[in-house]
Amino acid sequence: MHIGIDLGGTKTESIIIDENGKEIERLRKNTPKNYNGTLDTVCELVKYLEDKHKKKCSIGVGSPGALSKETDCIKGGNSTWLNGRPLKKDIELRLNRKIFFENDANCFALSEAYDGSGSKHEIVFGVIIGTGVGGGLVINKKVINGFNNITGEWGHNQMPIGSNDKWNRHDCYCGKKGCIETFLSGPGFSKHYFDMYNIKLDAKIIQENANNGDEKALEFIFQYLDYLARGLAQVINIIDPGAIVLGGGVSNMKQIYGNINSKLKKYVFSDTVNTEVVKNTFGDSSGVRGAADLGR
Ligand SMILES: [Zn+2]
Repeated sequence: MHIGIDLGGTKTESIIIDENGKEIERLRKNTPKNYNGTLDTVCELVKYLEDKHKKKCSIGVGSPGALSKETDCIKGGNSTWLNGRPLKKDIELRLNRKIFFENDANCFALSEAYDGSGSKHEIVFGVIIGTGVGGGLVINKKVINGFNNITGEWGHNQMPIGSNDKWNRHDCYCGKKGCIETFLSGPGFSKHYFDMYNIKLDAKIIQENANNGDEKALEFIFQYLDYLARGLAQVINIIDPGAIVLGGGVSNMKQIYGNINSKLKKYVFSDTVNTEVVKNTFGDSSGVRGAADLGR
C-alpha cells in the first residue's frame, strides 16, 4: 500500500491507497506554519496510517516549490518556512527510510496520468492555473523533472505576440515582463479585465457573469482563450502530449472545453490538433493521490 502526503499552505492532507489506486483512508490536519511542526505532522500522519492498517507503506510527499539540485533544499515554494530547508532528507532521517518527493504540480499531473483524465495517454501535461501558472510532465506514468528541475514551468515563458493583441504586458514577480502567468493566472485575469473595462472583479465572478450570459464577460473570456491557446501551443510544439489536463480555478471555466482546439489550430505547427484538453478527474485530491502514486 502507498501513503501520500500533500503539504498545502493551510492543510496537510494524507491518503492511503492500494495497488489499484483505491482510496482506503484519508485524513487532514492543519499545516503548522513552521519547519519542525511540518516535520512532526508528516511523521504523525505516516505513523497513524501505518499503525492502523498494519502495513509498512511507500511514502510520497508533495510539496510547493522544488528541491534544488545543488543544495537538496526547497526553493521557490509559497510555504516560505520550507524554503532553504532539506525537507526530503529531514523526513527520511525522522522516518528512517527513503521517501518519494515531488512538487505539487508534478503530483497533480501524475495522479491524472495514472487514474484520471489523462490515463489513456502516454504523454500527459498537467496544468495548474490558479494564483500562479505551473505544470508537470508525465511520460509512461513517470514524472519528468528535467536537468534543471524545471520541466513544465511554461508559466514564465513570454506570451507570444499575436496579430489580435488587446491586452497589456504586465511585470511578473520573476523579474520579466509579459510572462504567460501574468496573462492567464487568476490575478492576471482580473488585472486585464480591469485594463479593458475599468472594473475590478475577481476572476471567479467574471466567470460566473459569463456563465449567466453577460456579454462583456463572454467577450473577455474568448479573448482569454486565445491567450491560453498561444501559451499551450508552445507546450504542444515541444512535447506534443496526448492530453493536457487542467487544474486550479481556471479548469472550472466551461467555455474552454469545446472551443480551445479550434483556437489551438491557429498556433500549433500542425494541420490537425487532436490533443485532448480536459478537466481533471480528482479536483483537490489530485495532489495527495499523486504523492501516493509516486510509490506505485
Ligand atoms: Zn514570470
